[in-house]
Amino acid sequence: MKIVLFGATGQVGLALQDSLAGIAGLDGLVCSSRGGGRWSADFDRPVEVAQLLRMLRPDVIVNAAAWTAVDAAEDHAEAALRVNATSPGAIAIEAQKLGALLLHYSSDYVFDGSGALAWREDDPTGPLNVYGATKLAGEQAIRASGCRHLIVRTSGVWSPGGEGGNFVATVRARLLARQALRVVDDQIGAPTAAALVADLSAQLLQRALKTEAVSGTYHLAPRGETSWFAVARLIAEGLRALGAVVPEVQAVPSAAYPQRARRPLNSRLDCSRLHSALGIALADWPTWPAPILQAIAAWPAGSPAASATGS
Ligand code: NDP
Repeated sequence: MKIVLFGATGQVGLALQDSLAGIAGLDGLVCSSRGGGRWSADFDRPVEVAQLLRMLRPDVIVNAAAWTAVDAAEDHAEAALRVNATSPGAIAIEAQKLGALLLHYSSDYVFDGSGALAWREDDPTGPLNVYGATKLAGEQAIRASGCRHLIVRTSGVWSPGGEGGNFVATVRARLLARQALRVVDDQIGAPTAAALVADLSAQLLQRALKTEAVSGTYHLAPRGETSWFAVARLIAEGLRALGAVVPEVQAVPSAAYPQRARRPLNSRLDCSRLHSALGIALADWPTWPAPILQAIAAWPAGSPAASATGS
């Protein structure tokens, strides 16, 4: 069995390189990115992406590539649509022709964030921003292609390393630089480690390879719910426990924190369909805080923690 992984350099893509390598029956994992090299494909050019698939003829396609710059998408809607919808649609058409299984990622931002109930897979969508609209268009293109697919919607993805690029890394770096932080306390969801996305995706893929009953759309997030403010405060506490001197985090409502793209307030995802598919009881489902604290304590070298602690 041959798997092609798109977006192999992203947070989820990097984690998938490890998780997919353990899939039973794997003969070859082709990691594609846009950065040149033999298997590069730029999602800004959907025809090129389809050509690569016709050449590689994979059994499974995993698409972790996406335009994820939510605010920038507001000003670059056409480009974001090409990456998040036109190319995934072209991939899906090739998957249908090849008889390949497509695993694709989508987002809590396809919902409008109303209410306080966790969103189920078949709840009505209503994106509030361009990014969410392009992710929804990508889902629709995949479903319309008729290919066998798994669409995994997740939320608030983070991974350890670097000084930015995701919420946990950005907050950690800014606290260690002793910058005052105002963080919204009315956007509720669950921060999801890229490693968890990759691990559960690989399990879902294994199930789907065994039974056609496992297909369609699934929500993936850790157990529990929180606000971004509470996550930032947890990171501050984690850093203090390591001896760092960091400022207090201030809670603000979204209304006092204007951003280019409007964000949904309710990003809770009901993951019971995934629990059932994987045979994991809710009580055994992973929670969100422990991985963040573990990552803070073991943050990869080359980041500013060492110089900022204890002084
Ligand atoms: P990242 O931003 O970390 O990675 C995105 C990947 O897409 C990178 O490999 C990037 O390549 C690649 N990419 C971007 N533009 C192009 C292009 N034009 N052609 C080819 N490749 C391109 O994203 P995540 O890993 O965080 O996200 C994975 C999936 O999860 C996405 O579908 C995303 O929409 C979804 N998701 C993410 C959330 C989050 O908080 N991050 C929340 C909910 C869902 P390069 O390294 O060259 O830039």
